[in-house]
Amino acid sequence: MALIGIARLAAQSDLLEAKRAVQYFEIPTRSILNRTKPGMPFEWTINPYRGCEFACKYCYARYTHEFMEMDATEFEDKIYAKAASAHLLRQELRKLAPRDHICIGTATDPYQPAERRFRRTRAILEVFARERGRYLGITTKSDLVVRDLDLLQEIARANVLSVHMTITTTDTALARLLEPRAPTPQCRLDAVRQLTGGGITVGVLPNPIMPGITDSERSLDRVAKAARDSGAVTFGGGPLFLMPSAQKVFFPFLEKERPDLAAQYREWYARSAYLGAAYRKTLAARVCRVRDRYGFDAGRVEYKPEVWVPEQAELFDESCGL
Ligand code: SF4
Repeated sequence: MALIGIARLAAQSDLLEAKRAVQYFEIPTRSILNRTKPGMPFEWTINPYRGCEFACKYCYARYTHEFMEMDATEFEDKIYAKAASAHLLRQELRKLAPRDHICIGTATDPYQPAERRFRRTRAILEVFARERGRYLGITTKSDLVVRDLDLLQEIARANVLSVHMTITTTDTALARLLEPRAPTPQCRLDAVRQLTGGGITVGVLPNPIMPGITDSERSLDRVAKAARDSGAVTFGGGPLFLMPSAQKVFFPFLEKERPDLAAQYREWYARSAYLGAAYRKTLAARVCRVRDRYGFDAGRVEYKPEVWVPEQAELFDESCGL
């Protein structure tokens, strides 16, 4: 069968490097900014890589490798660095509206191991460091983000910037099972502390919250307390979203590690990738209680940067009712 589109580009990509079972490729791309669907908390996303070596058992983004006609498990072993990301970004930023929010790292981690070598995320941040009045968020599970503290500080002076650290559990052994190649929870908390100490606005996300695994009030409370003690200012999350491509990895994982939950999960996710409304309501109330206990903000924190273009300042004042 002839390969088309992204599958053809993937098949033709140049091999950059191979280590263990992981291979790195460079993939050409026509665009680096992706428009989100209405209802999302940001209008644009940037993912400098396709695939993610952190190999989280629940990862929803595995389907992106299926577009390239690969198995969902290849998502963690075949990593594609997008070519010319910074160059494309410089051109594409022109099409954004002044209040558009951009989030880096929605489908793959921008600070996964590949970033140490290929520095695509850093190149993108260098572009933002020359911008004024942008709204930028970064989501990661990696302490490598601290490497870019200098750039983050520069961006935060003239743009509204927040970093979101994902911490599903403070239990190191459980995290190792769920997120086998990601930095430990303690490494992530240390990174939160270093970022907040450097003046960066940081939120902690206990996402995805997994029924029977990380959804107890005790478990969420531990993450929230550790986040607060590390200087984070926002906290919030939602339940596990489990598409068929993610089920292919998550269900066998449960059968091996949590056989007591396997049948129940198959039933919960038999008809939909989303859990039922009653569970979502109960969990939302639990997250709210935990958040309030530690005085976190629910949403994003928007501050007025030190250097700000005048027309942006006016928009900011209007949106805050000043
Ligand atoms: S860090 Fe995020 S993108 Fe990477 S495997 Fe885990 S859930 Fe997927």
